[in-house]
Parts: sequence; structure tokens; C-alpha cells
Amino acid sequence: MYDMRLRVSYVKGLVEGLEIQDDKLKKVLSEIIDVLDEMAEAVDDLNMAIDETQEYVECIDEDLGELEDDFYDTDYEDDDYDEFDDYEDDYYDSDDEYDFDDEDFLEADCPKCHETVYIDRDFVVDGKAECPNCKTEIEFEERE
Ligand SMILES: [Zn+2]
Repeated sequence: MYDMRLRVSYVKGLVEGLEIQDDKLKKVLSEIIDVLDEMAEAVDDLNMAIDETQEYVECIDEDLGELEDDFYDTDYEDDDYDEFDDYEDDYYDSDDEYDFDDEDFLEADCPKCHETVYIDRDFVVDGKAECPNCKTEIEFEERE
């Protein structure tokens, strides 16, 4: 906070302008100003660190968003939970866009937590597997 350090300098100038003769008082005021100056500097550093961290988090958030878009291959978003039915329709229409090269994974929408999950075929027994999210049993129809 540049402004804060500027104001400390201003106060320092004011105190010097008083031309205080009392050495003890002068010393106390000068100590107070030093402490203020250090605090202003510390706050300045903290603010810079916070700004950097915030920028970094925003970058990560953006990257993660792109990854999620690629991974789920849909514009599914957190606040779309209520539109699950629409989403389900999208899913059945978009079989061709199925993004995994690896055909060993089955995509399913969990009936309980409504999460889209990808399950290794090896874990599907008798067309059933556990939702990795909520542990509910999901039934699979084989779609080749
Ligand atoms: Zn689930």
C-alpha cells in the first residue's frame, strides 16, 4: 500500500517540523514513526504477495476449467445440477464425442449423486459397479 508509506513519511516530516527540544519525547516519536514505517512496509509486502497468489490461483482456476471442459466433453457446470435431465439428454446425444481414446472406460451418470463417472471396465461386474463418488451401485448397459 504505497499510500500508507507516503503518509508515514508525511507524519515524519510533520514531527521534524515541530523541532521538539525534549530529547525523550523526540526519541519516543521517532520510535513510533519507525514502527509505523516498518508496518507499512510489511503490509505492502503482504499485499504484493496476496496479489501474486490471487493471480496464480486465477490461472490455476482457468487451467482447471479448461481441463474439466476437455475431460467431461460438455459445458456442464457446477450450477447445472438441477438441469440433470437436460444433461442426460446431451450425454446420450453425444456418444460420438466420447473423448477417451481408452475404450476401457465406461461413462455413466450416477443415479444418486448425479455425478458423471468414468469406470474402468475391469471394475464392472455383471454390469454393475460402485460410484467412486458416493459408493452407490450403478448399473451399466453395455454400449459398444
Ligand atoms: Zn454417485
